[in-house]
Amino acid sequence: MIYSYHRPMSDGCHYPGLLARHGVRCTAIRLAVLEVLGGAERALCADEILHRIRRSRRVNRVTIYRILEDFSRRGILRKVLSEGRALRFELACEHHPPHPHFECRVCGDLQCLDPVPLEKVWVELKGPVGNRADRIEIRVEGVCRRCRGLA
Ligand SMILES: [Zn+2]
Ligand SMILES: [Zn+2]
Ligand SMILES: [Zn+2]
Repeated sequence: MIYSYHRPMSDGCHYPGLLARHGVRCTAIRLAVLEVLGGAERALCADEILHRIRRSRRVNRVTIYRILEDFSRRGILRKVLSEGRALRFELACEHHPPHPHFECRVCGDLQCLDPVPLEKVWVELKGPVGNRADRIEIRVEGVCRRCRGLA
């Protein structure tokens, strides 16, 4: 699977099934959160998710924040940390394995990179035999193509 941050995340996801597998009741608003993230070209912060859902329905901020926290705790979503900027969220289902991110220090853009290199080093990154790795995060910081005038 090749990741491109211009491609929507929603390749092959069936959201009601995803919720059911995690024991979460399927509601319109929970589906809306997954649909927004599935249609996003990159990881989104809570306010961006809220804003996009509000294009089509009324919803309050607290509800969305609660859903994002709950989904993250259950492993439906992944939190993507970035320095000095709002926490972002992306789908964490089987179609979207952990992958490195490239963050532009000029425009703040956060690109999702191909997960393959990460899978290759996963074994080494666990450290001593017996350690169990539950979370892996690689964030590359630099200046993106566009900001360098190359795109
Ligand atoms: Zn999926
Ligand atoms: Zn940039
Ligand atoms: Zn990503």
